[in-house]
Amino acid sequence: MTSTPDFLSHLNPSQRQAVEHFCGPLLVVAGAGSGKTRALTYRISNLVLTHRINPENILAVTFTNKAAKEMKARIEKLFADRIAQEKHGKPLDLLAPYEQTKLRSHVYKTITKPLWIGTFHSLCARLLRMEIHKYQDEQGRKWERNFSIFDESDVQSLIKDIVVNKLNLDDRKFPPRSVRFAISNAKNQGWSPDELEANQQDFRGRVIAEVYRAYQDGLAANNALDFDDLIRVLVLLLKQNEQTLAYWHQQFHHILVDEYQDTNRTQYDMLSLLATNGADAKTFKSWQNRSVFVVGDADQSIYSFRAADFRILMGFQQDFGDDLPDDDTRTMVKLEENYRSTENILQAANVLIDNNTERIDKVLKPTRGKGEPIYCYRADDELQEADFVVGQIRQLEQQHPEVQWGDFAILYRTNAQSRAFEETLVRWAIPYTVVGGLKFYDRREVKDILAYLRLIVNPADSVSLKRVINTPRRGIGKTTMDRLTQAAQELGVPTWEILSDEATVKTLASRGSRNILGFVDMIRLWQSQVDTLPATEIIQGILDNSGYIRNLQDQDTDEAEDRIGNVKELYNAAQQFAEENGDDSLLSFLANAALASDADDKEDSTTVSMMTLHSAKGLEFPIVFLVGIEQGLFPNFRSLDDPAALEEERRLCYVGITRAQERLFLSHARERRLYGSREPAIPSAFLSELPRDLIETNTPTAIPSQGIEMFSSAPPQKKLPNTNARDWAVGDRLVHKGYGLGEVTHIFGAGNKICLAVKFPNLGKKIIDPNITVLERV
Ligand code: ATP
Ligand code: MG
Repeated sequence: MTSTPDFLSHLNPSQRQAVEHFCGPLLVVAGAGSGKTRALTYRISNLVLTHRINPENILAVTFTNKAAKEMKARIEKLFADRIAQEKHGKPLDLLAPYEQTKLRSHVYKTITKPLWIGTFHSLCARLLRMEIHKYQDEQGRKWERNFSIFDESDVQSLIKDIVVNKLNLDDRKFPPRSVRFAISNAKNQGWSPDELEANQQDFRGRVIAEVYRAYQDGLAANNALDFDDLIRVLVLLLKQNEQTLAYWHQQFHHILVDEYQDTNRTQYDMLSLLATNGADAKTFKSWQNRSVFVVGDADQSIYSFRAADFRILMGFQQDFGDDLPDDDTRTMVKLEENYRSTENILQAANVLIDNNTERIDKVLKPTRGKGEPIYCYRADDELQEADFVVGQIRQLEQQHPEVQWGDFAILYRTNAQSRAFEETLVRWAIPYTVVGGLKFYDRREVKDILAYLRLIVNPADSVSLKRVINTPRRGIGKTTMDRLTQAAQELGVPTWEILSDEATVKTLASRGSRNILGFVDMIRLWQSQVDTLPATEIIQGILDNSGYIRNLQDQDTDEAEDRIGNVKELYNAAQQFAEENGDDSLLSFLANAALASDADDKEDSTTVSMMTLHSAKGLEFPIVFLVGIEQGLFPNFRSLDDPAALEEERRLCYVGITRAQERLFLSHARERRLYGSREPAIPSAFLSELPRDLIETNTPTAIPSQGIEMFSSAPPQKKLPNTNARDWAVGDRLVHKGYGLGEVTHIFGAGNKICLAVKFPNLGKKIIDPNITVLERV
């Protein structure tokens, strides 16, 4: 085998330097699309091929399981190609199918399978499967190797059990989800229950520490770990057991990490322990036959809400390289050419990110032609936006024989935005995949509300009944429900019939009977409205009165907020369906929803990809649609008065733009349906930061000009002061510019994320967000 394999000719000199760097720490920093992931992949190949490193001695961390799979596939192909060349004098693709399979399976067995490639979580789980019996927590509890990994619903029910049954607390005051969130935060800080308790001043905090303690007991009793524990426990285990640490330190000669800018403290601890055997990374001297190789781009750090910290990337050289000669180039390589995007796209991205103050300037040069202009479309509303995007997809696919569905990606800021696009794609029978998430109608919260609706129109639907009777929790236990279900089965009637018989309920469900009867009354009320009220009103009734939204609001997490967005989007779906079909009945809407959820899942390569911007990190697509670029949506509300958060939103926009290879389409709407009412929307400030000469538009107002002026071309809007829940009360009277005089009948939400239900004498009830609509109090 030659010392410089020819596959390295697919790399530029800086990439090559990174790939060929053999031992010691190395940081590769570079902008998007500059071939960082490629360098990392080639480096693994080169370690095995040129340096004859045993694949078992290589540990590579990727950001998603999908990325791990892709990386393995790429490495496998590289190897198979190389062996094909050496043995048969031609590339793999030109071998007979039988030879190809044989060769691939040989490469799989000897090279890719033994490699340790995966996400932090999957790698830690794998290590714990071998080592966890050596771990002991501060209470002396131990775990077996066949431990379970509890998913979110297991975790919730354990916590709920502790709150209600063990500690006799009210789960409305201590909702399992918010308790879970607090525990998760403590774990991410590396705190034990005692440490959490020591850091709490108030009663609530101390109770949560108490739940945390009992929760760890519960996990141990079940021989289980939760997701947060996987990394934390491994770190503790390695710190506790010198021999074990020494063993794995010895095993992993070469450690590689992709997307290093999104690493958090615990993950960093794990890496540095393994790399240095617990020595101070700064003074660690034994780099002779080992390396730590990390690649990242601080401009793409977008996970600070999960405790990721890009200063870990910035500190890499200091942390790992202090005793090396004071020569930057030995511990850092910069890549400066972008191979992914056309010059126009790249320039737009570079100019945008330059508006961030908290960054290190870097060079990112185009290597491709100028390309087509970027196109920015201003739609009337979100439906027209979806029509535009899907229309473009159809047109491009038809006009260019080489273009396939898999070449397109639709990227959005929040999950709820996917619905309008999904429905339009379904209408045109275009296959699509929601990457890193569920399709709209498969999402848990959407299914929950649909189950309420199904139960309302069809009380015999015991599956839906079971799904919602204790969602949100109403103190109706599983045993009680089992008893009632069994009674129903014995009598051969639907469970609902048993539930609607007060005497039977009182006998069979003594403690929970009041809760059950309350639930039955609530459903009965909606059942009585089915023939007279439109679907939207019934949905709104559920959202207001079932406690579903309140439960989510109490959790006050990003995830809960996303779920609230989806639930409200279901209201929009019903409204849109009624408008388009002139039929506002709940039954018709349910039939439509059942059809929409039935779209097939196909292979990624033959489907349009849809995903949030967060899920798009590291990926690339020939044609990208970046949609909903409006103030308050992207950048999102919470970032508008928080400069650091706004910079993170801008980084997210940079990630979005740099996913595109050939074509980039941007879009936003003049008004957007927000929980029923149409609200004017303002184009995002990010649009005004892009170089105008690179962008074509459908109307001159599609791109606002910079600064204050940008608001003048938009609908008459001022930037509004942040309105808080405290500023409004039920009964307040106000004037809305379009609707006239109205009265507040309900306030949804909490803090500064609220919506008002306002009754207007001639128009009925409208839901209005006071943070984006001017309301004058009278
Ligand atoms: P991101 O920051 O988005 O993760 P990245 O820096 O990891 O991007 P890659 O995904 O590795 O970039 O590469 C971007 C694209 O450029 C890929 O299609 C890759 O195959 C191609 N590429 C990388 N290096 C080269 C090169 N030296 N010559 C030609 N193409 C290259
Ligand atoms: Mg990458």
